[in-house]
Amino acid sequence: MNDVERIKKEKGGLEVWNDLQRIAAEGYAGIDADDMFRLRWLGLYEQKPKDGFFMLRIKVPGGQLNYDQLIAVAEVTRDYARNIADITTRQNFQFHWMAPQDFPAIFAKFSAVGISTLGACGDIPRNVTGCPVAGLDPNETFDAQPYAQAVHEYFLGNPEFADLPRKYKISITGCCEHCSQPEINDIAATAVIKNGEKGFHIRVGGGLSTRPFLAQKLNFFIPADKLVDAFRAVTEVYRDSGYRENRKKARIKFLVADWGAAKYEEEVLKRLSWVPEPALTEAEWPEPTNNFRDHVGVHPQSQPGLFWVGANVLTGRMNSEQLFEVARLAKEYGTGDTRTTNQQNLLIVNVKEADVPTVVAGLEAIGFPVVASPIRRAAVACTGSEFCNLALTETKNLMWQIVRHLDKTVSLDEPLRINLNGCPNGCGQHHIGDIGLQGCVVKLPEGGSVDGYDISLGGRLGRDAKFVRPIWRKVPATDVPVALENLLNGYLNERDEDED
Ligand code: SF4
Repeated sequence: MNDVERIKKEKGGLEVWNDLQRIAAEGYAGIDADDMFRLRWLGLYEQKPKDGFFMLRIKVPGGQLNYDQLIAVAEVTRDYARNIADITTRQNFQFHWMAPQDFPAIFAKFSAVGISTLGACGDIPRNVTGCPVAGLDPNETFDAQPYAQAVHEYFLGNPEFADLPRKYKISITGCCEHCSQPEINDIAATAVIKNGEKGFHIRVGGGLSTRPFLAQKLNFFIPADKLVDAFRAVTEVYRDSGYRENRKKARIKFLVADWGAAKYEEEVLKRLSWVPEPALTEAEWPEPTNNFRDHVGVHPQSQPGLFWVGANVLTGRMNSEQLFEVARLAKEYGTGDTRTTNQQNLLIVNVKEADVPTVVAGLEAIGFPVVASPIRRAAVACTGSEFCNLALTETKNLMWQIVRHLDKTVSLDEPLRINLNGCPNGCGQHHIGDIGLQGCVVKLPEGGSVDGYDISLGGRLGRDAKFVRPIWRKVPATDVPVALENLLNGYLNERDEDED
């Protein structure tokens, strides 16, 4: 048994919840190495440079927050997080500078508005991501958020699933564009209609990091009201058969890659008391093409007369003043509801047509443009060396430099996704970017080293999903903006008519 498995077996990660008051009283010095690891189950990670402060991640199922919840996010940002909050690529919020003595007050504040952090990190089902315009999108197959919420509630704090071999990422969407990225989740459901019945296709075994895999579809049609039970069975198989010896091979993607979809289906069927019908064929229900899955801009909702207003929050970084203002705009001109996206952007929903210009102007006034360039609107950057212990490079400032430079030097007339990561892991999803940037260390001939990036191209999801392929290695970070300028202008000058 490796050390991590020993820690989990001796005391479950969720049980550290009972130690929270003691940890707050004793402070950082009183947390032993095992409990430091278990704190992940509460959404807490030690931040760089491991000198007493933590990152805290909250779960935001489907990216949906009501007014009171966004106010709680703003207050925690202001009072405990040195005025920094980040939207993540899994629609969560992350905070930094959390001090152990503040943990009980912070958890109490979130709990009072129905926000949980249980399972936001650790070897446990993570936040259930979904389409940020679920229930609003006129083109969706159906609103899958109630089913995503049911799955969230089933797994939340469920001791049966609190010790998985590794983290377990979930996405559930009812949209036609699959904007919640089912291909790169450990388990994912996408809405279909079969013979007039609402249901889901499910797939398993997707993931990024150093060995990226695309999820494989299981040949099941899951009636919508059986989705939770299907997820239970799929997850039990992983819990009981996933690889625990080597953490580098413990994600479900390695099990699925070894077994194949057919064997995984057999194992799932053994744990169901009902037999799913076969999935619809590709001819009956085609996968979406490489749609640009973006929610920025002003869009009519399925509710007549109402609009969602999607603003770009470059790199996902916000301060409390911005958060309070977004909450005010959402309450005054909408229903108080906001949504986060996996491109680190933010939506105010249920806005009447007459109020749209005011909301747009209000968002622009705090630095969140609703009309954003193709370069800016879908750019994504992970946490990087500012706070992340695994990072090789700084990320968010570089992304700002890249976007400012390209907005001045490139006139792009089509969507673009630039995804930037500070290490080979996948938090910034560089494997699926049109342009993927992976942080590395560049050794200088005269000695010493600087931040650098491997630059890759051509990632996409959907029908012809594929990961990026590298074109340039070890480009110093200071050269990256100009390298991308040359790359994009070269493309614009030489592209074929039907090339994207
Ligand atoms: Fe940290 Fe790497 Fe994840 Fe970025 S991709 S947040 S550097 S682990």
